[in-house]
Amino acid sequence: MRLIPEPNYKRDVNKILEHFRVGYKDLYNYLISALILDPNNPSIKEEIYILRRIEARLGELEKMIQGDIKESLTDSFINGQAYHLASIGAYASLSEAVKNIASSSFKVNKIEALISDTYDDLLFATQNTSRHLKKLVRDTVGKSIQYGALREDGRRTIGKIIEAELSSKGLSKSLKEQGFVGIIDKAGRKWQLSNYSDMVVRTKLVQAHTEGLRYEAQESGYDLAIISTHNADDSCGKYEGMIISLNGGTKGYPTYEQVKATGEIFHPNCRHIVHSFRDVEFLPKSVREKDEQARGYFENRN
Ligand SMILES: [Zn+2]
Repeated sequence: MRLIPEPNYKRDVNKILEHFRVGYKDLYNYLISALILDPNNPSIKEEIYILRRIEARLGELEKMIQGDIKESLTDSFINGQAYHLASIGAYASLSEAVKNIASSSFKVNKIEALISDTYDDLLFATQNTSRHLKKLVRDTVGKSIQYGALREDGRRTIGKIIEAELSSKGLSKSLKEQGFVGIIDKAGRKWQLSNYSDMVVRTKLVQAHTEGLRYEAQESGYDLAIISTHNADDSCGKYEGMIISLNGGTKGYPTYEQVKATGEIFHPNCRHIVHSFRDVEFLPKSVREKDEQARGYFENRN
């Protein structure tokens, strides 16, 4: 069994998350400057203009992440293909395998669904943010109008409250608590905004890698793989070292889909990948023992 260094997608993840960081920070700074109240010179805020700026900035952000997602997922899929080929010894190294695949057998339609899924999941975050920010703008504009009216009435106490709310400090607090807030994903899980985007990108990159590997396994006919080990302390840990059939082509082994369907491994944020190999006969005894142990858990769980 050849040991190929495990893929590291940190750079790709960071590149995409950087668009979010920059985009959200721009909006945060802009909204504070646009909404801040000058008690000595209160003016009517141009609500429509501010709402359009939010749309435009988030639109820009979406465009940038769209491009990067396509590129990163494609690379990751090709890397998965190469990983399979290098693991079974079809190429001397991972880089040699990547070079050969990039110029020949890559099929973009294999990951189109994954690309659009990822994009949709990330839009879920930007659209959620857009909705919250717009509501905040409307509320804030409402307050500044109220402030103008109160001043004419000479009602200082409520005026002071609004002054505090629409100060730089007050706006910063509302933006953080009501604007850039966490979201509940399609599966009903709660996430911090930044953790959510991070989870989506990370999960899909690993998934693209595994899909590339499974695709190539179908082509090569080497269907068996071992689940990677990094001593995970969640439910995944129980599956480390287990041998699975990638595409259901080998009798007597649980398939990738069956194992994934437990929800205990290959879940969001899961870092486990699979290592292809040629023949069970040649696996060291310790590796086979670990497989038996994992298999025991899988078959006897409730
Ligand atoms: Zn895992």
